Amino acid sequence: MKHLITTKDFSKEEILALFKDAKEFLDEKPRELLKGKSITTIFFENSTRTLSSFETAAKRLNAKVLRLDVSRSSSSKGETLFDTAANLDAMNPSAIVVRHQHSGVPLSLAKHVHCPVLNGGDGKHAHPTQALLDLFTIYEHFKGDVRGKKVIIVGDIKNSRVANSNIELLTRFGLEIILVAPPHFMPKTSLKQFYKLDKNLIKQSDVIMSLRTQTERHQKQIYGSLKDYANDFCITKDLIEDQKLIILHPGPVHRNVDISDEVLADERSLVLKQVKHGVAIRMAALKKVILEQ
Ligand code: ASP
Repeated sequence: MKHLITTKDFSKEEILALFKDAKEFLDEKPRELLKGKSITTIFFENSTRTLSSFETAAKRLNAKVLRLDVSRSSSSKGETLFDTAANLDAMNPSAIVVRHQHSGVPLSLAKHVHCPVLNGGDGKHAHPTQALLDLFTIYEHFKGDVRGKKVIIVGDIKNSRVANSNIELLTRFGLEIILVAPPHFMPKTSLKQFYKLDKNLIKQSDVIMSLRTQTERHQKQIYGSLKDYANDFCITKDLIEDQKLIILHPGPVHRNVDISDEVLADERSLVLKQVKHGVAIRMAALKKVILEQ
C-alpha cells in the first residue's frame, strides 16, 4: 500500500507522473475518478489551506469527505490517537489525511490502519504535499527546466516542516538551495548558508521561498520583535528590484514581516498560484495512493 508520509515515498518518476496528472487537473473540472470512495480528514493542528485544499481535491474527484472534528472527538476525552485511528479504520475509509503537532504521528498511524495515509504536516518534520506543490509551481514556471535553478529559502528554516520537505525534494531534482536565516533559525546542514539577505545573493537566485516564523514552535521569544526580524529578512521591492525571479510562500504570510505588501502584489509573487496548484497536486496524490494500490 502506498502512503505519503514524506516526499521520499515517491520516486522521481512517480513525481513526474503526478505532475502530469496535476497539470490536467488544473482545468478544475469535476471528475468521477474517486466516485464511491470516502476520505477522512483529521487535523489536530490549525490549518487554512491544507485542509480545505485536500477536501476540495477529494470532492473534485467525486469522493465523499468525512471531516473528524477533533475538538468534538473523543481525543479531547482522553482516547489515545491509536484507539481513535482503530475506530476510524473500522469505518473503512479509502484514505486518511492527518495533520498533527507531533512529528511521526502520520507514520505511526499508517502502521495501524488498512488504508493509505497522507501527511498534512507533522510537527517540524514533513509537509510532503506542500513541497510537491512548490516544486510543481517552479516546474510549471520554468517549463520543466529546473535543474541548476537557485532557490533561496528565507526564514525560520529550523522549525519548518515545509523547508525540510523542500530541501529533500528540490535537491533530488537538481535545484541548488541556499539557506538565509538568523543563526537561531538555521538548521545543522551542509547546504550553503548566510545570516543576512542581501542584494548580491538575490541577484544570483531564480526563486525566493519565504517562510513564516513558527512562533507556536518556539519555547521562548527568540527575536527582539517581528519588526526587528522584518528589518533583516522581509522580501521588499528594494531588495528584489526588477530582477527576474519568482517568490513563493506556503502561507500563512505575515504581511510586511515575511514579504512586503508591494512584493505580494507583484506579478513575480506566485503565492496564490501555489494555492491553485495545491488542489491539483492533492487530487493527483489522492488518485495515486487510492487507485494504485
Ligand atoms: N502552512 C504551512 C505549514 O503548515 C506553513 C506554516 O504554517 O508556516 O507548515
